[in-house]
Amino acid sequence: MSVFASSCAPAEGWLAVAGLGPGAVGLVTPEAAEALAQATDVVGYLPYVERVPPRPGLVRHASDNREELARARQAIELAAAGRRVVVVSSGDPGVFAMAAAVCEALEAGPPAWGGVELRVLPGITAMLAASARAGAPLGHDFCAINLSDNLKPWALIERRLRLAVEADFAIALYNPRSKARPEGFARALQVLREAGGGTRPVLFARAVSTPDEHLDVVGLDEATPEMADMRTVVIVGSSQTRLLARPAGALLYTPRSVSGDAA
Ligand code: SAH
Repeated sequence: MSVFASSCAPAEGWLAVAGLGPGAVGLVTPEAAEALAQATDVVGYLPYVERVPPRPGLVRHASDNREELARARQAIELAAAGRRVVVVSSGDPGVFAMAAAVCEALEAGPPAWGGVELRVLPGITAMLAASARAGAPLGHDFCAINLSDNLKPWALIERRLRLAVEADFAIALYNPRSKARPEGFARALQVLREAGGGTRPVLFARAVSTPDEHLDVVGLDEATPEMADMRTVVIVGSSQTRLLARPAGALLYTPRSVSGDAA
């Protein structure tokens, strides 16, 4: 038997953690839409819960951004009580989002929660939607770093940025900037430059797949903190990432292969 299969008889209730994608309805997976159609309860951060249209028989529980663990516990309790619960995240629920918070809450929770059926339903994460819009900047090796220091020390963020440049990854930066941390992204750009990021192209992709979508590509040496906000995902290219000018529109891409002397 798979270690992932539950040995308990399934209760009536269930819990799904679903990603709603970057914004467009067409980028919600059929699997996530089906779970939402069967749900009695939707739980999540207010702007994400608002993306689920109200209907009779569906209770929408919206909470504040910083209440992830409390929200996860609430969702598990509802499922344990027999409700069909979907916790919603934007993008993919496993990328800087609620799936890990639900796992943490289950780990710390009472034994009775051991029988709650959990499914994590993937979604299209912001960096993949942004990458697809621009061309293929993540076509070779890449990493993703969350610039929010709510849940980790800033020194660790700086270290990861430096090492990512040194390893010549393309780097997707989530949560680049907020009103609470105006100086963080300026410092991140400085660290990337000091680490040798040079003139690598940087994609600023804002509100991808929504009516507010805006994409911009500049060199790292020209990038300024104001180019990003909390609705922006930033993709810093590797040393190989290039902009291909075409009459039909430029393409930002990272070639599939890299020569041996780059190491
Ligand atoms: N789970 C989400 C990420 C949550 S962190 C996902 O997989 O996409 C929130 C950050 O995601 C934002 O600060 C921004 O950096 C990025 N983001 C989410 N939606 C976006 C969109 N439509 N366009 C650009 N960036 C987005």
